[in-house]
Amino acid sequence: MLAAQSKNTYYRRTFSPVEEYPVVKSGLLDMYKAKFDQSPLPQPPPPALDFTYHNYTVMADFLRKTAAAYPQLAKLYSIGKSVQGRDLWVILVTNGANQIDIGKPNVKIVGNIHGNEAVGREVSLHLIEYLLAKYHTEPYVKWLLDHTKIHILPSLNPDGFEVSREGSCQGGQGRYNAMGFDLNRNFPDYFKTNMKHPQQETEAYKSWIAKENFVLSASLHGGALVVTYPFDNSPNAIIFKFKTVARFEIKILVLLLYRFCAPTVNAVTKLVELRLTQPYITAPALTPDTDVFKYLASSYASTHPTMHQGLPCKPGAAAFQNGTVNGAAWYPLVGGAQDYNYIWGGCLEITIEMSCCKYPPAAELPAHWEDHRLALLQLLGEARRGVRGMTVDGEGVPIPLAEMRIRNRDVGFKSSSRGEYWRILLPGDYIIEVYKGGYEPREIAFKVVDDKPTILNIVLKKVKDIKLKIYSA
Ligand SMILES: [Zn+2]
Repeated sequence: MLAAQSKNTYYRRTFSPVEEYPVVKSGLLDMYKAKFDQSPLPQPPPPALDFTYHNYTVMADFLRKTAAAYPQLAKLYSIGKSVQGRDLWVILVTNGANQIDIGKPNVKIVGNIHGNEAVGREVSLHLIEYLLAKYHTEPYVKWLLDHTKIHILPSLNPDGFEVSREGSCQGGQGRYNAMGFDLNRNFPDYFKTNMKHPQQETEAYKSWIAKENFVLSASLHGGALVVTYPFDNSPNAIIFKFKTVARFEIKILVLLLYRFCAPTVNAVTKLVELRLTQPYITAPALTPDTDVFKYLASSYASTHPTMHQGLPCKPGAAAFQNGTVNGAAWYPLVGGAQDYNYIWGGCLEITIEMSCCKYPPAAELPAHWEDHRLALLQLLGEARRGVRGMTVDGEGVPIPLAEMRIRNRDVGFKSSSRGEYWRILLPGDYIIEVYKGGYEPREIAFKVVDDKPTILNIVLKKVKDIKLKIYSA
């Protein structure tokens, strides 16, 4: 079991007056740039990936052979094991995958949290193949891999996938892990206490987030065609867990009202219908970074050929304006990965519902991959938007895990264990507030212009240095 991580929620402290945009050139990024031999090594040919569903054994074999075929661009690692002992494999795709590289933001794609939502799993595999095969021929892909560390976890729930059935568009067979838990209800919740017993898969996932300092993430689901953004839960969300009890309660209520207050019966009947068909009350729950989340969601949906139309998957199903929706406004849930990423991991995660059918026939996979390909490629590049840099001391030594916040955005983030930081922001004027125990807090005004990252290295003075100056004055 892992120690619980601390929330990234920011705690206000007293700061010195705002300083004017001092960009410090420490030269650290150059100093730490790993130097390695770029000459090609003898390597086995990459494995071919067809448009079928790949079970755990075949998928693991594909990932192993792919990593071996691209030693410069890919590295395979496991974040832990599922309940039934299957590795939760991740491929890191970046130029210099096996070298230490400072200054590249970590992004991730996570598929198949719900084991029966299979399109995301296969699209993840095709994304891996595409990024690696196109590095030398497609300038945008080269730019991505030269500037971003892309971690792709095709399946967080390999046990669930093994018992899912191709062609099953709805239903829950394979949705849960081998212990019967819904992994996307198994994380600590920002608004409510989550009593669900933590599962091996979510513990491994939480540890991964704590280690890698992800900036941006997409979680791939199925059963709808929409992008959702945090929060998934809200302080006032009401989720009716026992529909049968609710049905009984409401029948009693209707009988009483009909007897004593007949004119209101129609209104009450409507309430009954609502409660029986929708086991929750919805309301938007927006974050301080909603502008960024909406941008990420809408740019994804508008790049997909049909998602932005927001059409319902079937008559009576939900329609989504522009193909995006706030998670809690669609339906609130407790213990989702999306809110956990944002609050605990300082990572902006959106959820992509990839297809109306959760596990469509394999013949449909080429079309799904083609529909999502450009949108995913575009999303991966968004990690370079906003502000980035390093937190260092007066000698230029990196300061790890400094607490940071953009003013008026009350959800914070941290610099990495190597002092790097990133935050996705849209163009505008901002103030960043930085705190680290033993150092003088700082706040710095800066500007973000267009989609070019603003580089802002932040020097923190040790508290003892300040005292020495006072004594010597
Ligand atoms: Zn799902």
